[in-house]
Amino acid sequence: MQGVGFRPAVYRIARALELSGVVYNDTKGVTIELQGREEKIAEFLVRLRSNADKPPLAEIKSCDLVELPVIEAEDKFTIQTSDSQGSPLSQVTADIATCRDCLAEMVDEEDFRYGYPFINCTNCGPRYSIVKNIPYDRPNTTMSVFKMCDKCAAQYTEVTDRRFHAQPVACGECGPSIRLTDNKGKTIETQTENVIAETAHLLSDGKIAAIKGIGGFHLAADALNNKAVERLRERKKRDHKPFAMMADSIEKIKKYAIVSESAEQLLKSPQSPIVLLPKKPNSTIASSAAEGVSTYGFMLCYAPLHYLLFEQLKKCGIDVLVMTSGNISDEPLICKNDLALERLGDVADAFLMHDREIYRQVDDSIVHFVDEQPVLLRRARGYVPTPLIIEENCEREIFAGGADLKNTFCFAKQNQFICSEHIGDLEDAEVYHHYINSIEHLRILFEVEPKVVAYDLHPGYLSTQHALSLESSKLIGIQHHWAHIASILAEYGLSGPVIGLAADGTGYGTDGAIWGCECMIASLEKFERFGHLAYYQLAGADKASKEAVRPALSLLQKAYGSKFTLQKFDWLLKRIEPDIKRLRIISEQLEKGVNCVETSSLGRVFDAAAAMLGLGSYNHFDAQLPMALEATAAAGVEDRYELETFWPPGEPYRFVLDKTIRQIVDDVQNQVDTGIISAKFHNTISEILLGFAVICRSETNLNTVALSGGVFCNRYLINRLIKQLRQNDFSVLFNREVPSNDGGISVGQAAIAANIYTVS
Ligand SMILES: [Zn+2]
Ligand SMILES: [Zn+2]
Repeated sequence: MQGVGFRPAVYRIARALELSGVVYNDTKGVTIELQGREEKIAEFLVRLRSNADKPPLAEIKSCDLVELPVIEAEDKFTIQTSDSQGSPLSQVTADIATCRDCLAEMVDEEDFRYGYPFINCTNCGPRYSIVKNIPYDRPNTTMSVFKMCDKCAAQYTEVTDRRFHAQPVACGECGPSIRLTDNKGKTIETQTENVIAETAHLLSDGKIAAIKGIGGFHLAADALNNKAVERLRERKKRDHKPFAMMADSIEKIKKYAIVSESAEQLLKSPQSPIVLLPKKPNSTIASSAAEGVSTYGFMLCYAPLHYLLFEQLKKCGIDVLVMTSGNISDEPLICKNDLALERLGDVADAFLMHDREIYRQVDDSIVHFVDEQPVLLRRARGYVPTPLIIEENCEREIFAGGADLKNTFCFAKQNQFICSEHIGDLEDAEVYHHYINSIEHLRILFEVEPKVVAYDLHPGYLSTQHALSLESSKLIGIQHHWAHIASILAEYGLSGPVIGLAADGTGYGTDGAIWGCECMIASLEKFERFGHLAYYQLAGADKASKEAVRPALSLLQKAYGSKFTLQKFDWLLKRIEPDIKRLRIISEQLEKGVNCVETSSLGRVFDAAAAMLGLGSYNHFDAQLPMALEATAAAGVEDRYELETFWPPGEPYRFVLDKTIRQIVDDVQNQVDTGIISAKFHNTISEILLGFAVICRSETNLNTVALSGGVFCNRYLINRLIKQLRQNDFSVLFNREVPSNDGGISVGQAAIAANIYTVS
């Protein structure tokens, strides 16, 4: 990658070891020619890889050594600034959290960037969010409007300087500045120190501030002030999602959440994601900040402005801020000043803005831990556009459209998959618009000319309709869960076959049913549906993923057959849907099969179970009910419910939940503790998935299991299943670099399409 300070580092090491030669970039990477004593060259290679000498953002993926004849003795080492900028893929890097060197300078009164909210260097600062075009050079970024002063320019042009070719380099003399306005855009304050002090003051007063950061605006409130947090939630509208929070030190986060050593490393990493951490009991964080979940999403400050703000917040007695995405409900993150005022004027009381334009909005990334390893739930700032490297080159360039929920899209070019940042749910018109624009921007930025388009089979998906409109390309429809499993194969550089277990909410099946609990024998070439959860009916397709009464009623009717009456289950159903008239309509729909679809969705079974336990009856956001169910599950429970199976000759193996549902109803009626029912339910689902793997292995001799799908965001389920699979001598693969939810679909689609066009 360019722009990470690699050549200057090579220069420094070579000079220190008195080696002569040259370093330069070309389209393939970095070439270093060295002349000197053999042991010094050996030492050079060691130091090049050591963390002390290597720039923090550089990663050496491979290194080839060739011996050259000495033609003439050289006496110096030089950096050759090549004309070639390298391939577009190697130029644009991700946005990186402020580094320690810059932070030290920012608090040093002697430094000319003392207290400057936009300090950055080659090792940190914005990249992807400010680049308009390639080559990645200052005129092609939103920094082009700022003319470097002499001091900044001197650092920018000095090869040995930490700011050599750092495109966003700036200082208080020449660079961007901040201002504070009211919610109408009227300027309150422009002097840097006062802007920050006044913002801190407003926040300590319980006010809400919109703060422009690296990838967009945040809406900020004092996380310990319940009234302020509730007001923020009300004003954001229909937003029930847990709010992310920010602190300026690990110690502060540890007051409210349990931070493991690996979580601490991740929080402090250059990517600086939101990390989901178990809540501490008796935490004083406002309860409305994160209800119905067992974790807090915390991040550390990652922009210089954040640090300066927290310095002032300390004086006002504020520890932690809610820092949630600056948008209304499910609309795209807002990154432009005028749009922020227009859309968030009713949400925020004040706006802390700056004049460094954000060209692409990039959300905060979210990471949690599975099997004690970091796993991305939302891949965006800090991770995008870092490509996934594949072993073989694609003969044709590919566009993969992704899925409609938690959308990302992906390009395949040469030996790389370039996956977009989290785009959002395409059903929102603004998000769809953003999707179409983003595809075009990244296509131009990375110089991709796709000849092949991969899309989901769901005919109702907007992403599918968009793909089908690209007529000049070769179109490849890919089944949703096959793409999920393929995303794992892509991550691990495998081609399969493996036993694929997909635990998911909704995915269109090849038989027109909605699939969601699948066991498939899958490779990049093909898949075979080995088993699935026995179908049940879902009434009112669109509403079924929101209203738990729909799967609940269906599963109950199926489990009790002719013994089911609404009256008999009135005690249970009224907590899910108090309106008896609606119950009757849905029940009749199910009996007559009107506007119903068959499904093996596992997500909807979680919805139904959560609703039967009285944990809510509506998904205000994706997986709200399943998350509530996971949060209640008691630890240390090994019991589970009984299962039935069904295997007609020549058809997929099936697990049937009828008995399970009847036993859950009995437990609810007998007032068994909710945490125990939830744990038993989770254990039962784990048993189904394990069962699929065991039977599939006995039929195929395959021993590797790949776990993907949105339901695997459930840590209780996936951790238990991984353990059980390993106890049964399976080798287990799960998503780490791309989300197991629908955010990973585009990578899976790209992998399957690329496999068809691989150059061997
Ligand atoms: Zn820095
Ligand atoms: Zn300057």
